[in-house]
Amino acid sequence: MSNNIIEVRRLSKTFDNKKALKEISLDISHGGITALLGPSGSGKSTLLRHLSGLVCSDRQEGTEIRVLGQLVQSEGRAASQVRGCRARAGYIFQQFNLVNRLSVLTNVLIGALGSTARWRTLTGRFTPEQRRQAMQALERVGMAAFAEQRVSTLSGGQQQRVAIARSLMQQAHIIFADEPIASLDPESARTVMELLKDINEREGIPVVVTLHQVDYALKYCQHLVALREGEVFYQGAAEAITEGELASLYTQSRPDSR
Ligand code: ADP
Ligand code: MG
Repeated sequence: MSNNIIEVRRLSKTFDNKKALKEISLDISHGGITALLGPSGSGKSTLLRHLSGLVCSDRQEGTEIRVLGQLVQSEGRAASQVRGCRARAGYIFQQFNLVNRLSVLTNVLIGALGSTARWRTLTGRFTPEQRRQAMQALERVGMAAFAEQRVSTLSGGQQQRVAIARSLMQQAHIIFADEPIASLDPESARTVMELLKDINEREGIPVVVTLHQVDYALKYCQHLVALREGEVFYQGAAEAITEGELASLYTQSRPDSR
């Protein structure tokens, strides 16, 4: 079996008349965290959504996406395995995507459902074992003391830790995080990145994260995929990217000038 966690071949995505992704191909090898970098509008979120199996690409001969060896999409059609693959991926978003009026614990328990679609019918029917697992996940992210609080009372960084706990509850085999630190202050951003790094190292769960802060990518990520106008500008080891490549990628948006 290949050593790549992600293999993309000839992936294109057109919105109306605009090409957001232009026949991109890439391989991401196992081990460590992968950062998707690029200026706003370069296609990072669109690529991540395709990897997650949440959207279908343009229909094109030779298009193929594999995640952890499993076919996610083929020639613009979701493969039949897509459900299985989605169930095993955890998602973390910039805006946390938690249910504000429910408790922290219930939000984590929702992870046990594999999808948020059915939480309304199942709230209150979780087993003691599921509750124990959810508390364990909250302990893992340092949020056990907040279990009974409503999500709406938490800071952004705390909410993001709860979202990570929900991914652990889902027993995610891979975590996709779209701008998980973009709304956070620097200290919370570091805490969240440290936590993702720790989960990646200790649980061995691959993490693919879009970032627009290049400094965080260089500090926490071992693999980089850089996009520019829907094309792959760089893919490979984070340590191998040159100053010149970084500079030409980010002409204006250095992280600490925000
Ligand atoms: P990034 O995450 O790097 O900022 P996106 O993947 O969100 O970039 O967007 C890439 C391009 O595709 C942009 O030009 C954006 O306007 C366009 N785009 C993304 N999603 C949609 C959509 N659902 N409908 C129309 N255009 C979209
Ligand atoms: Mg985006």
